[in-house]
Amino acid sequence: MPEKGKLSKYREKRDFTKTGEPSGKAKVARSDKRRFVVQKHAASRLHYDLRLELDGVFKSWAVTRGPSLDPRDKRLAVEVEDHPLGYGDFEGTIPKGEYGGGTVQLWDRGTWEPDGPKTPEQGLADGDFKFKLDGERLHGSWVLVRLKNDRYGGGKRTNWLLIKHRDEYAKDGDGDAILAEDRSVASGRTMAAIAEGKGRGPKPFMLAGTAPAEPDAVWDTAGAPEKPAKRKPSPRKTKAQLAE
Ligand code: MN
Repeated sequence: MPEKGKLSKYREKRDFTKTGEPSGKAKVARSDKRRFVVQKHAASRLHYDLRLELDGVFKSWAVTRGPSLDPRDKRLAVEVEDHPLGYGDFEGTIPKGEYGGGTVQLWDRGTWEPDGPKTPEQGLADGDFKFKLDGERLHGSWVLVRLKNDRYGGGKRTNWLLIKHRDEYAKDGDGDAILAEDRSVASGRTMAAIAEGKGRGPKPFMLAGTAPAEPDAVWDTAGAPEKPAKRKPSPRKTKAQLAE
């Protein structure tokens, strides 16, 4: 169980009477290996949320443009608040006007382990976090490197770069090809089908042993009044907004 308070930021940002995202109270299946998920998220801008299980929560980054298999590509990964492990089964639509409003697809999932002699906690503290993924789509060695100066988004966020290490899973010059696959690893559905609440519900992974979620998972609480989206004073989108 995560220590008390670790998920307070996560909960502060969300109104669970309006969004169907997990509140973090669901019982998650035990696992000998640490798990990870990547969620394709069509929020104000499309991004891919990388979540790595560590110490009872998901450490989370919003990766612009998605992960690349080309080691020459450096993808901005905006650190966001820790997410509950139950979030790893979340696929559906966050209502418009709520935090992170938009469709979420389970794009990859599997297990991970630290790469090298450092503990993950030490790697994160050092801003040099190496890990190996064993997912359905992503494999091999990766690194998250923390940027010293916050060059994006006005300094409110901690920014990292996600880079593929050179190994047998790296692909020179064709790093984005993997992103063309618009099928959920949990339900087989496209973003469009998820947005319409059609097809099969996602097969559970974190909450193993429970029944599949409803396919019409447009997590707009029935009867909840549609809240207009709050407008930021500046119409220009900042990189930090990618993290929503
Ligand atoms: Mn997101």
